[in-house]
Amino acid sequence: MGSFDQLADLNACRRRLLDLHLLGVYANGIGFGNLSVRDGVSRSFYITGSATGGLPELTPADCVRVVEYDFAKNWLSYEGAAIPSSESLTHAAIYESDPSASAVIHCHDSALWRTLLDRAPTSSKAVAYGTAEMSYEIMRLFKTSDVQSREILVMAGHKGGIVTFGKNLQDAFEVLIRARSESAP
Ligand SMILES: [Zn+2]
Repeated sequence: MGSFDQLADLNACRRRLLDLHLLGVYANGIGFGNLSVRDGVSRSFYITGSATGGLPELTPADCVRVVEYDFAKNWLSYEGAAIPSSESLTHAAIYESDPSASAVIHCHDSALWRTLLDRAPTSSKAVAYGTAEMSYEIMRLFKTSDVQSREILVMAGHKGGIVTFGKNLQDAFEVLIRARSESAP
């Protein structure tokens, strides 16, 4: 896959998340956190590849362009050599639910997660990360909560899991930083 317009923004945002340890690699070698940006006004979006959490800087080869998806079949098609993040359909569910959303951040923040659990829009505890159910759960939250205006949600079934979004990555990042500063003791 070739380079894309928002790659520099994506790397800048990732660096800040890495510095804050909101994205990275656990001691067991498992990476966490992923970012995506919508491709213009289309349904397609660019998302960081699986197992890229430890990389300080991503190249186009570390990302994929998700071009089509089907929630019911838990299926997607993509362009690129990387393996799309296992949470790609969660990102897709946000783009489907909010046409003004053009960037999504999924990070891990244990303190913020504990503070916001059931106070901010929260996905069901019964729904695990990276499942088809999670995309339906996200779409349900858009119908039943104020997630569209708050631009943040908590994944009860995925410890530490936070998702923010906005009209660009800077926006989504600011939502996250604001929530952290408001919840700081
Ligand atoms: Zn996660």
